Amino acid sequence: MEKMEPVIGLEIHAQLKTRTKLFCSCPTEFGAEPNTNICEVCTGQPGALPRMNGEALRLAATAGLALGSRVNATSLFSRKNYFYPDLPNGFQTSQLDPPICEGGSLELGLEDGTVKTVRLNRIHMEDDAGKCLHDERGGVTFVDLNRAGTPLIEIVTEPDIASAKEAVAFLKALHSLLVRIGVTTGRMEEGEFRCDVNISLKPVGSAKLGVRGEIKNLNSFRFVGQAIEYEIQRQTGLYEQGLPVLQETLHFDSAKGETRSLRSKEEAHDYRYFPQPDLPPVRIPPEWLADIGKGLPETLPESLARLGALGLKEAQASLIAERPGALAFFDKAVEAYPGPKRIASLMEELFLPACQKAGMAGITDAAFGPIMLSKLAKLMDDGSVGRRVAKEQFAEMFASGADPEVFLKDKGLTQLQDAGAIEGIIREVLQRHPKEAQSFKDGEEKVLSFLVGQVMKLSSGRADPRKAGELLREIINK
Ligand SMILES: [Zn+2]
Repeated sequence: MEKMEPVIGLEIHAQLKTRTKLFCSCPTEFGAEPNTNICEVCTGQPGALPRMNGEALRLAATAGLALGSRVNATSLFSRKNYFYPDLPNGFQTSQLDPPICEGGSLELGLEDGTVKTVRLNRIHMEDDAGKCLHDERGGVTFVDLNRAGTPLIEIVTEPDIASAKEAVAFLKALHSLLVRIGVTTGRMEEGEFRCDVNISLKPVGSAKLGVRGEIKNLNSFRFVGQAIEYEIQRQTGLYEQGLPVLQETLHFDSAKGETRSLRSKEEAHDYRYFPQPDLPPVRIPPEWLADIGKGLPETLPESLARLGALGLKEAQASLIAERPGALAFFDKAVEAYPGPKRIASLMEELFLPACQKAGMAGITDAAFGPIMLSKLAKLMDDGSVGRRVAKEQFAEMFASGADPEVFLKDKGLTQLQDAGAIEGIIREVLQRHPKEAQSFKDGEEKVLSFLVGQVMKLSSGRADPRKAGELLREIINK
């Protein structure tokens, strides 16, 4: 049998971070009492007219600019017709042609050090459906329309992804970018970032795509990985037995770790798309778009380049640039003390692992802020604190948010930097060990380490040994 390879495309739904819904002023807050955040528009009452949310439009355009898409000056909303108990209009208001954004791409750093570009086909806006709540005991289903009308963007990739690993890396990078630029809150457990996976197999090297299955509504990176692995195996099994792969919509059962068929896959024409007559075309003036562009933070490649120019190692730079909140933390610390390399290595070795260990979702939750980290970096750079002390004391400072200058000094752990203080100790050592001092003066180099040892002992380990050595040499040879 020919060797097959997977071809994967993703459709990601991200909920836009707006206070109100896409076409009415009902709040988008999560977790409210069922059917309290609703009105005549989002429950599809006859005659109720939608009104476009400008902030949603701005966020969708922001996502497009950040992903290098072309943002269309004019786009159109259409009705996507289907019946669902939690879809009160009987249609979803979505965009078919033209969508707000077309094209674009996202670059991924892969584990083997290579960079992969995943192209985007389009980004369009649409509203979300409500939710059906199934009461298993009573055998009843309730409909909650609080979510109906919540603004979403759907980001559709080209089928450029070749493995479960790449798919997960792409989603993580996309999620981190969209959260960073404030397009979405991205809380996956609340369904604010979820993804459909299109997957087919084709003979290695062949340009012809096979029949694809579409796995719906995955809301965790882990499930995406598992579902793709399972589906690759399932489709490979069908090919090996000479059985056809059916074009169908699949559901991933995370408890069993397998996909199962929901329905045969529908095509665009099944939805009878037509322009939504209640909404005018969406127009984005060029000045408005230019303003959005100015407000955008640097892209990931730009951040990486900037950190690289500050002298950070590649791994450190990507660690800091990709972790939400870490770059802002780093920038604040560097603003307070311009020691980027030291700050980056403290973040890599101590701070970020401590955040992880403490199970913090965002590093801004840490009591130990960027100013404190900058102080620790400064103490280390000027030799007042050694690596060992920093490492040993970090957990305590991190937990309490203590000021390292005060904390380490109080504990007597800062090294003596003051030449006068060290000199006093050196004179005392020379008085106690005149013989050794003389033999060093006579050229016996190795006695120096003995004398430095005595200085360290007398200063209870607080003298900087390098500095003590230099001063000893100076004083003895005077
Ligand atoms: Zn409403």
